Amino acid sequence: VKADGGNNYQFFKASTQSSAINRLNMESEMRKAIERGEFVLHYQPQINATSGHVVGMEALIRWQHPERGMIPPYHFISVAEETGMIVPIGEWVMYEACRQNKAWHDAGLAELKVAVNLSARQFSDRKLLDKVRHALKQSGLNPAFLELEITESVIMKDIEATIALLEEIASMGLSLAIDDFGTGYSSLNYLKRFPIDKLKIDKSFIDDVISSEDDGKIVEAIIGLSHNLKLNVICEGVEDAEQFAWLQERQCNEIQGYYFSKPLPADEFEAFVRSRNAI
Ligand code: C2E
Ligand code: CA
Ligand code: CA
Ligand code: CA
Repeated sequence: VKADGGNNYQFFKASTQSSAINRLNMESEMRKAIERGEFVLHYQPQINATSGHVVGMEALIRWQHPERGMIPPYHFISVAEETGMIVPIGEWVMYEACRQNKAWHDAGLAELKVAVNLSARQFSDRKLLDKVRHALKQSGLNPAFLELEITESVIMKDIEATIALLEEIASMGLSLAIDDFGTGYSSLNYLKRFPIDKLKIDKSFIDDVISSEDDGKIVEAIIGLSHNLKLNVICEGVEDAEQFAWLQERQCNEIQGYYFSKPLPADEFEAFVRSRNAI
């Protein structure tokens, strides 16, 4: 694994440098990866802070490369974004997440909501809504069980256009979460105009929530803001019992982090839910 890891690091490090040739290589590799079915989704549980039950999961992509092993998104998502390959990859992610979630619903697993990450490029794709509709129709998943995660910087780019698009998405019955909240430049003024359901507080604030008074105050303020705006609030990157207790005390609604579980392959995720929710 070490040797492979080394090669994979070199290959992808080179590829992420902005050499056009490397980007082109990566692009054709990614195109083949879609055709060959080399992408997989792992699922990270989202836990209700009061009940301790799994209430949802975030779908996170990995590349199961035949020679280079499991490649984390960090190594290819930004190149996919630059080359535009994120659009077909994202389309696959959306369909696969819906298909898997529907299969779990049909199998009698708890009715969980699946969250899918939407990149800037996907968000500005004119065909986005058609693709979402298609994924829902093909999979048969009830739209109420699909959530889209969008970062602050993406939605703040063109406020009026964003509001119109988000309203269309919301009217289809999906839910919307703002990802990495606190790291961008959300205008609080606009926040109430977005038809969103959830704020996801970025891991960088959770890391030092205990040790840094400032980060603690910021997290408290975001939780308070969420409650005032009647939004759900979830914290990501919760790694220990102390952070969990701190957030629980402050009425954070949901928790996602290694303290409960890393992102898991589908079969392990299913087993996790069955034991955790006692199904
Ligand atoms: P993100 O959307 O902020 O996802 C959360 C990341 O934090 C995941 O990394 C997750 O494994 C990690 N994480 C969660 N809890 C903890 C924790 O307690 N400790 C630590 N150290 N890490 C934690 P991952 O899976 O490597 O994904 C990284 C990023 O790649 C994601 O960040 C997202 O921006 C992007 N990404 C992943 N899958 C997709 C996808 O399907 N589409 C798009 N557009 N982007 C994706
Ligand atoms: Ca996310
Ligand atoms: Ca995030
Ligand atoms: Ca993050």
